[in-house]
Amino acid sequence: MAYHTVLLNRMYVNGKWVRAKGNQTFPVTNPATGKTIGSVPDGGKEDARLAVDAAHAAFPVWSGKTAEERSYYLRKWHDAILDNKNEIAEILVLEQGKPMKEALGEITYAASFLLWYAEEAKRIYGETIPASAPDKRILVFRQPVGVTAAITPWNFPAAMITRKVAPALAAGCTVVIKPAEQTPLTALKLAEAAEMAGFPRGVINVVTGNPEEIGAAWLEDPRVRKITFTGSTEVGKLLMKGAADTVKKISLELGGHAPVIVFEDADLDLAVQGTILSKFRNAGQTCICANRVYVQESIFEPFVEKLAEETKKLVVGYGLEPETQIGPLIDESAYLKVKSHIENAVAMGAKIVCGGNRVNDFEGGYFLEPTVLTDVKDEMKIMKEETFGPVAPVLTFRDMEEVIERANDTPYGLAAYAFTSNLRTAFLVSERLEYGIVGINDPLPSVAQAPFGGFKESGLGREGGHHGIDEFLEIKYVSMKL
Ligand code: ADP
Repeated sequence: MAYHTVLLNRMYVNGKWVRAKGNQTFPVTNPATGKTIGSVPDGGKEDARLAVDAAHAAFPVWSGKTAEERSYYLRKWHDAILDNKNEIAEILVLEQGKPMKEALGEITYAASFLLWYAEEAKRIYGETIPASAPDKRILVFRQPVGVTAAITPWNFPAAMITRKVAPALAAGCTVVIKPAEQTPLTALKLAEAAEMAGFPRGVINVVTGNPEEIGAAWLEDPRVRKITFTGSTEVGKLLMKGAADTVKKISLELGGHAPVIVFEDADLDLAVQGTILSKFRNAGQTCICANRVYVQESIFEPFVEKLAEETKKLVVGYGLEPETQIGPLIDESAYLKVKSHIENAVAMGAKIVCGGNRVNDFEGGYFLEPTVLTDVKDEMKIMKEETFGPVAPVLTFRDMEEVIERANDTPYGLAAYAFTSNLRTAFLVSERLEYGIVGINDPLPSVAQAPFGGFKESGLGREGGHHGIDEFLEIKYVSMKL
């Protein structure tokens, strides 16, 4: 694999590596150093439209292929990504900052969607339904919805693309992709791998550039039949409104505010390790990251002590250094937000048990010490807004009734976690938490074969599993009189 996308300021449209119409570019920054590592086309309306032209022209070609043929391309793409995973992971670390081990984990996870949906492509079954007249037959077809626009975030620059694009392609849709402006290079590396897999031109297109212009062009275009988005609730709502004019199908994976509930019968070590994995992975920048930790009164002190002890051991540093466990925050505004959550909590009486400061050894990057807070109150900002950083506020609770009510008291509903060794507790909390994903003694629930998605303002639709492919299919009912 060559670094040509990084070197040539090109994006991938209609099977060609092209410049933006106006020839403009924008820089990509390494969040660990603040230095520019490359640049990509600064595409706008016209570029977005050309990508839709390509995807629209390719739609009959791609949807006309057999499921087995589509499966073949998806598997080839999967293999091309894994064959080049070190190179792609390195680019991912450079533009996103996460530790290399996590980047490699993300590439494997990203590829797993291609393999899973290569299989699911073959199982898009229809139905026959008993009719109410003897000379009628009722058939149900499941058909691809059409050109799909995928808008993706920077925190998982590879996986958020394949999680959307794999089921879309499996269903027979063609795609236009707009990666986040912070992490376009990984997306272009995935496009390189797709090119190696030999997809027909126009089936997969990647446009980098201005989010508002590209987003608006795709929302307005009646040929785009589906918008699939991961990102902030704010932008998700905007897209939902924008999709209304042409009544597009939409799926949204939005923000979260995940509670972790540690019951007194939990295995303490497992609960501490689980909280650390859920909270500090990707420096706290995942939408299913623990955002608040409720610990039952009787075990609060030993839990906090152990959590702080383990948190202090985490190594903050550059993602490419093998011992690094916590990388930088994505940019200054991310850092300022996390800092403001800590400051607001402290001003309202919270205590910093460990961390709380910027690590100054790294010029140009925003690295924050992993932080544990106690004496936290439900009114604090950190308890209401998504922090997206390495800060764990820890609170106490008395009993299940109370903690479930507090856990559900949020407009978000993406992921929630509970640690317990009691089966009854495990079932009751699983049923009563108003969240799309519940991890019981499991801080890492994301896998290709399970439906990922949120309740309430955390989103619409599901990604992954056999459920994920339905988001890209229309149901057609045929009533046939013989
Ligand atoms: P975050 O706060 O995590 O950066 P955003 O929701 O701002 O989340 O970004 C997620 C994705 O949405 C990115 O690809 C970004 O460029 C894109 N985006 C942001 N604003 C818009 C918009 N108005 N229209 C379309 N896409 C947008």
